[in-house]
Amino acid sequence: MIKKVDHIGIAVKSIEETLPFYTDVLSLTLLAIEEVDSQKVKVAFLKAGETKIELLEATSKESPIADFIGKRGEGIHHMALGVASIEDRIAEMKEQGIRMIDNEPRLGAGGAHIAFMHPKSAAGVLIELCEKKGDGGLE
Ligand code: ZN
Repeated sequence: MIKKVDHIGIAVKSIEETLPFYTDVLSLTLLAIEEVDSQKVKVAFLKAGETKIELLEATSKESPIADFIGKRGEGIHHMALGVASIEDRIAEMKEQGIRMIDNEPRLGAGGAHIAFMHPKSAAGVLIELCEKKGDGGLE
């Protein structure tokens, strides 16, 4: 069911200030920067082999990322698992009594279809199910 860890999401105060650590110190390649209005975030994707690192910066005080940083500071925010047929995966999770934050897939960065599982149902980890549809430009 799970293809791979698609990406690790990291909440940062400023992509501009954080990016040099990833590109210069860790020598990772920047793939794309984009704004995701539905989540009130700006994201930067870096290539780390088969997996990506997603830096998330709030674009509004109402952004879940602003909330997260306010409570816990910068750091790892979520883990995204690459799946096929995300609608079926959501249905399977719900059948198993897993609480989903998103009961329907929504549009994420790179045109991916995503759905978050509730951390209370996922061993304390915010897990994003993520399906690439067509050419997201990030693969
Ligand atoms: Zn993500």
